[in-house]
Amino acid sequence: MELTISNLSKTYANGTQAMININLNIPAGMFGLLGPNGAGKSTLMRTIATLQEADHGSIVMDGLDVLKEKDEVRKVLGYLPQDFGVYPKESAINMLNHFAVLKGITNSSTRKEIVSGLLQFVNLYEDRNKKLGSFSGGMKQRFGIAQALLGNPKLIIVDEPTAGLDPAERNRFLNLLSEIGEKSIVILSTHIVDDVTDLCPNMAIIFKGEVLLSGKPMDAIRTFENKIWEKSIEKDTLESYQNQYHVISFKSVAGKSNIHVLSNTAPDEGFTMIAPTLEDVYFAEITKKTSKLN
Ligand code: ADP
Repeated sequence: MELTISNLSKTYANGTQAMININLNIPAGMFGLLGPNGAGKSTLMRTIATLQEADHGSIVMDGLDVLKEKDEVRKVLGYLPQDFGVYPKESAINMLNHFAVLKGITNSSTRKEIVSGLLQFVNLYEDRNKKLGSFSGGMKQRFGIAQALLGNPKLIIVDEPTAGLDPAERNRFLNLLSEIGEKSIVILSTHIVDDVTDLCPNMAIIFKGEVLLSGKPMDAIRTFENKIWEKSIEKDTLESYQNQYHVISFKSVAGKSNIHVLSNTAPDEGFTMIAPTLEDVYFAEITKKTSKLN
């Protein structure tokens, strides 16, 4: 099972280039699509989900032309959009039953079994008769995953699912996804680096419509070994560091700024070389595009 995206481009009517010649190979398992807001993640996800057209390029899944054979794709697709809306007055079980009918599961006893099974899988069975409007953010997202899994999809797309979840809900949700990832292609878009670190054997970083990097997180991290330097500085000196060095990130710690710099050699004697993380990879790739030094 593999999804191959080739030379995919999209410019919106207002001139925004949301996808610029995107090439990606997405194998079975969890695939993290990491990028800041506005990077083009939703545009790419909606295009794969057959909900909008690209200007150029192709998407092929195991011989299926995704951009042309939309009905075939929809039979094997599960999609959890960023703005998944539910009827607040409907109970979870009734709503999921309704989605199952729409998905073509016509036999009522089969449907009952599937709906109950999915509610159990996402740990909402006990809450099945509660109104969706009373659900927490995490419960809504788990319900969203249950509806996305109707019909045993081979390709599951979840757009920014952990935004707004508290840590416990996020963990629960990510555990569910990784279970699903054992059997299908799951594409997870996120701006949260830890979502990818914790869970995705393969990933891509996307920024301003372009893929900056794709591959395995560990391989990406390895390419930054011996190149990430850390220093605690006075906050008001940050700008001069930024003018002098490739500062990839800074964090306030106890009234000071903790900066990370990308450099092949020690920037100055106050810096310590540190083991890179995926967050360093992410900020290094993005700031290569935006750094004052470029
Ligand atoms: P992300 O999901 O990474 O936040 P999007 O795909 O939503 O990114 O957006 C990518 C870019 O395209 C952004 O600059 C956004 O403002 C723009 N964009 C998204 N949808 C539309 C649209 N329907 N019309 C015009 N511009 C859009």
